[in-house]
Amino acid sequence: MKIKAVRRPETPEQARDWARELGEQALYVAGGTGLHFMTDPAEMVAIPLDRIGLRGVECSGRHYRIGALTPLADVMNYRAERWAFHETGRRTATHQIRNISTVGGNICRVFPWCDLPVALLALEATMVLLGDDGYAVPADDYFASQPARRLANGDLLLAVDVPVLEAHMGFGYRKEVICHSGFSLMTVAARLRLEGDRIRDARVAAGAALPFPARLKQVEALLADQPATPDTFARAATEGVREVAWKGREDWSDAYAAHAAAIAVRDALDRALTFARRRDW
Ligand SMILES: Cc1cc2nc3c(=O)[nH]c(=O)nc-3n(C[C@H](O)[C@H](O)[C@H](O)COP(=O)(O)OP(=O)(O)OC[C@H]3O[C@@H](n4cnc5c(N)ncnc54)[C@H](O)[C@@H]3O)c2cc1C
Repeated sequence: MKIKAVRRPETPEQARDWARELGEQALYVAGGTGLHFMTDPAEMVAIPLDRIGLRGVECSGRHYRIGALTPLADVMNYRAERWAFHETGRRTATHQIRNISTVGGNICRVFPWCDLPVALLALEATMVLLGDDGYAVPADDYFASQPARRLANGDLLLAVDVPVLEAHMGFGYRKEVICHSGFSLMTVAARLRLEGDRIRDARVAAGAALPFPARLKQVEALLADQPATPDTFARAATEGVREVAWKGREDWSDAYAAHAAAIAVRDALDRALTFARRRDW
């Protein structure tokens, strides 16, 4: 892609207005690290978002609001009561990329290896957008297809709301890579809600080894209202991933991806259970 001009807005509304005015030529630029992967030869007008704010994490009591321009490094370094999202931020790419890449950039154009969509699906997050007015889209709708298509009309992502995990809820994230700085080959996120020794409900999502991040509904069904035991997890992780069309990347075969999926699901569930039972902050 070729950048033929740059227009730097001072507010989210100005960014949106310019994007609408420029139409197909408009390109929001957050960290700019994704441009490397956009091979479309079109000439674009860059709209850098570095002066419009939208940076930082705040807790409203019910949810954590993460500004769209928050770098992944800030997500990784943030700590608060029953906050779990830093576990995902920490595993994303390298220090250099995390310092520049933003939460919004990771989820506005979803590449197969992107970590955040998988975690946000499991955590039941909501995306806060600016169209004609502000509006909110639950993760299940937002990630039902490539968000860049939804945002092609110039709508701007303002923030992500991640619900605070209640007591007896836990979150676990698992990522497989060839080396620490490598692209994701398999990502799985799990959120469990316990009721005593039973699992009341579960949200489990996967990515990287799928064409697009998605919830693993069969795994979730095998966990709901079951005892939170190793046997339940083993069954959900093996039977629940069987019908999914796993896709191997780099030197992984599809069959190996399917094998790795069962292990990753099991690990993410174990982590979520440990979080739910042992972590009291
Ligand atoms: C070598 C390398 C390895 C990587 N490995 C991983 C990995 O393993 N896991 C992972 O998750 N990520 C990884 N990344 C990062 C990922 O590929 C993207 O580059 C990154 O998430 C983009 O974030 P950004 O802030 O730089 O967005 P940008 O590149 O600035 O923007 C990306 C897209 O989102 C749009 N956009 C940005 N912000 C908004 C907004 N607020 N509203 C509307 N549209 C917006 C832009 O117009 C653009 O289309 C890697 C990157 C590199 C270079």
